[in-house]
Amino acid sequence: MLIDSYKHKGMRKSLVRIVHEKGIRSMKVLKALEQVPRHFFFEKAFVEQAYQDKAFPIGEGQTISQPYTVAYQTELLDVKPTDKVLEIGTGSGYQCSILLQLTPNVYTIEYNKPLYLKAQRQFQLMDLHPQAFLGDGSEGLPDHAPFDKILVTAGAPIIPKTLLKQLTIGGMLVIPVGDTAVQKMLRVTRLGQEEFTKEEFDNFKFVPLLGSQGWK
Ligand code: SAM
Repeated sequence: MLIDSYKHKGMRKSLVRIVHEKGIRSMKVLKALEQVPRHFFFEKAFVEQAYQDKAFPIGEGQTISQPYTVAYQTELLDVKPTDKVLEIGTGSGYQCSILLQLTPNVYTIEYNKPLYLKAQRQFQLMDLHPQAFLGDGSEGLPDHAPFDKILVTAGAPIIPKTLLKQLTIGGMLVIPVGDTAVQKMLRVTRLGQEEFTKEEFDNFKFVPLLGSQGWK
């Protein structure tokens, strides 16, 4: 059973304070973090630690990202209530649930079948309704494009051109790019049909993006 007690809510408030002190300024992002019960997305073995600002294993060799990283990427994405958003790397479903606080129009894709199925169950239990897909998200979701925002939650070797093509004009892609040890957070904005600007932010360490445009 999913129980979100006063104790959990109190721990979430403390976590939000920590993330704020580390530099996250967007009130809508901090509010979303305060609303989503992170412990619902945890394996039993780690559930007591759900409100630490750390990444934790979710099975299949994958992780639920650190709350600061989730907040950082979400802040860069600057989600508007009318945005259609694609998340690549559903994982536990936590980041997707944060995005759903900001817009109802969220698509998410996961490569790993057991994780996809687990996240589906979690969304049902929480009465959340993203459009969730199983497949290679390094290719985006061409049948459902264009997207106003695309968020990649695994480390990519390159910026996949196929994702850039799936942005609206004015749309933005947030993606960590680098080698498997460290990645730079990038934000690419589509200014015109073939015109893009790229901004560089801090370094992070993500699990690898797999698939045709990811690590082989
Ligand atoms: N957003 C997740 C969450 O909130 O729990 C955390 C994501 S975890 C750091 C990265 C995820 O990306 C893993 O679940 C992994 O299986 C997935 N992944 C890796 N390559 C992928 C691909 N090509 N398409 C879709 N998902 C991929």
